[in-house]
Amino acid sequence: MIAKAKTANDVAPLGGGTNLVVEMRASGVGPATLVSVGQLAGLRGITIADGTVTIGAATTVSDILRDPRMKQVAAVLVESADVFAGQMIRNTATVAGNICCGSPAADLVPPLLALGASVTLRSGSGERTVPLDGYFTGYKTSVRKPDELLTAISWPVPTAKSASRFYKLGRRRGDAITMVGVSVFVSLKDGVCDTVRIALGAVGPCVMRSKKAEAVMQGKAPSADLIAKAAQAATAESTPIDDIRASGEYRKEQVQVLVQRLLTQSLESLS
Ligand SMILES: Cc1cc2nc3c(=O)[nH]c(=O)nc-3n(C[C@H](O)[C@H](O)[C@H](O)COP(=O)(O)OP(=O)(O)OC[C@H]3O[C@@H](n4cnc5c(N)ncnc54)[C@H](O)[C@@H]3O)c2cc1C
Repeated sequence: MIAKAKTANDVAPLGGGTNLVVEMRASGVGPATLVSVGQLAGLRGITIADGTVTIGAATTVSDILRDPRMKQVAAVLVESADVFAGQMIRNTATVAGNICCGSPAADLVPPLLALGASVTLRSGSGERTVPLDGYFTGYKTSVRKPDELLTAISWPVPTAKSASRFYKLGRRRGDAITMVGVSVFVSLKDGVCDTVRIALGAVGPCVMRSKKAEAVMQGKAPSADLIAKAAQAATAESTPIDDIRASGEYRKEQVQVLVQRLLTQSLESLS
């Protein structure tokens, strides 16, 4: 039995329900009113136009995997979708739901941060676009106001001289909550790192960019030594907790390993 709302704000959008309904069933509490947006055709779909990729909020993980264009414009997101839950969950879980649940282990968020994505938030009083990098404010908190619906996610089509990677470290390959998730994006210009984005999942209160690690690489010619220093900076910036899946110490070690590995792989693919 779900408790009744006590405030006027106690209304929530429902995407695929794979997070919200599970949480409501487990806790016995939840919003009094759910507004189903997961089946709205206008919120679902992928468009690529004028150098921008736009995903509707209700686009599912399976939609990402089924669209052959996504490997060209968001290979890193496809990598993540490919290890996301099992088939049934992928068919209903939406991209907006993954962002808005605010979990530090949400698997689509590191790749979207690596791609430099922004989110569109709409309410009765207007629309605004917020960089995903500035969206989360802490554990399951964000700048989204209660009356705002996340309607779309967009990012620039990556340049030819760029590469990106994602890795989900979990206890199993499928249907496992991420212990550490790392995503990187690197573009090169005149032999030096032009844009570097390094996103870390499950090692802090929310998915985060490691700006210190990015600064190590930015504007420099890539080398093994530089990559190792960036990985160290990412490790230092992470603040993982101990839980039933892994210790904070192990997670920190894995940030070092994965940032180093993914940066190396990305840069090797550009040479
Ligand atoms: C068995 C199982 C396996 C899972 N495996 C994974 C996994 O591997 N990786 C992973 O990251 N997650 C996983 N999850 C969690 C969940 O499937 C994802 O977070 C999913 O993306 C949530 O999307 P949804 O559409 O179902 O969101 P919902 O449950 O519908 O909503 C989640 C939250 O987002 C809000 N919301 C939804 N849409 C909007 C919108 N358009 N605007 C504003 N707010 C909105 C809701 O109000 C709610 O607070 C798993 C869940 C289960 C049950």
